[in-house]
Amino acid sequence: MARSSVLGYPRIGADREWKKALEAFWAGKLGEAELHEELRGIRLEHLRKQREAGIDLIPVNDFSYYDQVLDTAAMFGIVPARFGHAGGPVPLAVYYGMARGTADTTACEMTKWFNTNYHYIVPELGGTEPALVDNKPLAAYREAKEALGIEGKPVLVGPLTFLKLSKGYAPSETDAWLNRLLPLYAQALQELEAEGAEWVQLDEPIVVTGLDADDRQRLKRSCAALASAAPKLKLMLQTYFESAEHYELLAELPVHGLGLDFVHGREGNLRAIREHGFPRDKTLGAGVIDGRGIWRAALSDKLALLEELEALVPQERLIVQTSCSLLHVPVTAARETKLAPVLKDALAFADEKLAEVVQLVYGLSGRTEAFAGAFAASDRAVEALRASADRNRTDVQRAAARIAEEPAARKAPFAERRSRQQDHWRLPVLPTTTIGSFPQSAEVRKARQAWRRGEWDGARYESFIDAQIDQWMGLQEEIGLDVLVHGEFERTDMVEFFGEKLAGFAFTANGWVQSYGSRCVKPPVIFGDVAFVAPMTVRETRYAQSKTSKPVKGMLTGPITILNWSFAREDLTREAIAYQIAYALRREVEALEAAGIGMIQVDEPAVREGLPLKPGEQADYLAWAVKAFRATTCTVADTTQIHTHMCYCEFHDMIPSIEAMDADVISIETSRSHGELIESFEHHTYPLGIGLGVYDIHSPRVPSAEEMTTMIGRALRVLDPNLFWINPDCGLKTRGLPETVASLRNMVEATERARASL
Ligand code: GLN
Ligand code: ZN
Repeated sequence: MARSSVLGYPRIGADREWKKALEAFWAGKLGEAELHEELRGIRLEHLRKQREAGIDLIPVNDFSYYDQVLDTAAMFGIVPARFGHAGGPVPLAVYYGMARGTADTTACEMTKWFNTNYHYIVPELGGTEPALVDNKPLAAYREAKEALGIEGKPVLVGPLTFLKLSKGYAPSETDAWLNRLLPLYAQALQELEAEGAEWVQLDEPIVVTGLDADDRQRLKRSCAALASAAPKLKLMLQTYFESAEHYELLAELPVHGLGLDFVHGREGNLRAIREHGFPRDKTLGAGVIDGRGIWRAALSDKLALLEELEALVPQERLIVQTSCSLLHVPVTAARETKLAPVLKDALAFADEKLAEVVQLVYGLSGRTEAFAGAFAASDRAVEALRASADRNRTDVQRAAARIAEEPAARKAPFAERRSRQQDHWRLPVLPTTTIGSFPQSAEVRKARQAWRRGEWDGARYESFIDAQIDQWMGLQEEIGLDVLVHGEFERTDMVEFFGEKLAGFAFTANGWVQSYGSRCVKPPVIFGDVAFVAPMTVRETRYAQSKTSKPVKGMLTGPITILNWSFAREDLTREAIAYQIAYALRREVEALEAAGIGMIQVDEPAVREGLPLKPGEQADYLAWAVKAFRATTCTVADTTQIHTHMCYCEFHDMIPSIEAMDADVISIETSRSHGELIESFEHHTYPLGIGLGVYDIHSPRVPSAEEMTTMIGRALRVLDPNLFWINPDCGLKTRGLPETVASLRNMVEATERARASL
């Protein structure tokens, strides 16, 4: 009989008790001993759950006090010199210092884990000399065994992935660093072997991105070193998020198992196995249950896939598992009692996925009696949602199909629009503006809660919001900004706000997933065809415009950001969903324009996040992402000025796509990339309106006018002053009022100096 496994289980807890414990500890409300106690309880509870579900190989060491990559650095004592760590085990204060910064030390960089919304802490090599200072996988293995009698499967971030995700070394030093790390990995594995561990999951997701010849050599070298160091351990070389590249190489590695993703890499992995066969000396970790999506699997389809695999790999060498760690999905769908039954029945979060994995193992062995109803029920649930009216809106589908066909171009090219817009708007050179949101005080959040709970009626809430708008219209006029915004006080979150007003979205009660550290997000669920229902932003924008003679920019979230920050349905391509959202948003753009709003910003901070991991697939994605943006914005008059905004990531290699969006003005976060972005404009003349953020909004510090004048000066060396805008890096929602006003005053002063020196 095949066995069952999962690659990792969410650590946050069904009630986010993990998050709460961490935050209580940081706030000094929970002592260190209590934190350990609390987290141990959560950890063991999760192991118990997996055992009760019937999982054979239960992962251990997937649990973390913050992040698994940070854990790997800490395990090897890799701490940047600025933390003054003298070596030896990394104390909790240093561990959290690396994650979050301390009063006088900046945190390590945080960045996205492959193409997910999970963020890891980037290890910085080159501080202390690495050593195995804390064999955390060993401790986790022992704990599971001693406390629960569970033979856990320790999970480690593999050496190549760890090295490739780290910074602080030159490419020429890669081999030297691998040579330093391998003996430490070997030692950790030997200790696990001596303790009696059987399987170890070595995560090497970097393999799916494609490796150059040097890295392929490194992978071979590290597998050989680790396999010979601990020959009795069964190493499962685990890949995920895409099909594995270099299958023939992987098939020859001296490891016991190869874990492949048959959800996101189904085609590629199947093709490789069909063509080359599966090595007789290996176990196949068949990732057939989606570890990242929230949808229930049609079990008969999964069983058919497994049967196809079984023809190539006998059951004794088959492990049925999730495609990746369940870290990326919420804990349990059982509590989502408020959703429509047809939707609720079609959901599978982590706990439901445990059951699916086990059911498939039984199904494969022909022993379905224990789960007789499960197969039919899953197929029925998937079919019911597929056939629901929400997924079959021909009006929406036709409109989205038309978008795919149309050129989605503005009426006139930019040069022409620009001169019309200049005549129309008469803005000064270097116009000043902001990104959209202004500080959301506790008072604003309280008002929203009172309204959501029904304690405030709609009229009271609206007049409260209007008072906030009034205050900020006054402040913006007084500060002397040229293009004003209403401030987004009515929005909690830039995607949720629109999702609540569009058809096709649902909101879970408890669908939290970890985004980074203790921060969790609850992505909306796109379950049906997305459609415009009624204007979403017109009332507040028009109200703001009525308070000033200056232009007020309307503020929307773009189709790709809405898509990338939601859990999307899987029966349509992402491209098709993006066009549905684009069409719905186009109607909002048109409603704003009809209401007299002549500048409209469509934010797309998340474009980069959807970039496929495989370089060969990126151009296609960018093409439809650009198309969706253009489809959203193309129907307006020439004088209507379309803005967009991007942040959170590196853009220098995306400039051609940004240009293809054909927005009249883009504002981009710049300060944190330390001018790298500015440099990239040296080689590329950007022909549209652009504002490179002149100050970082992530800190309460008030930047001086001098600093910002310098930033402006640097940008103007490479960009046309007649196309340049002055704005902060991003929205100001998380800042306080006094620092925001002070910073914006300085920004306007810096602009005046820059104008004077033109
Ligand atoms: N308009 C949004 C705001 O100002 C943009 C947020 C973002 O870029 N992430 O908050
Ligand atoms: Zn931003």
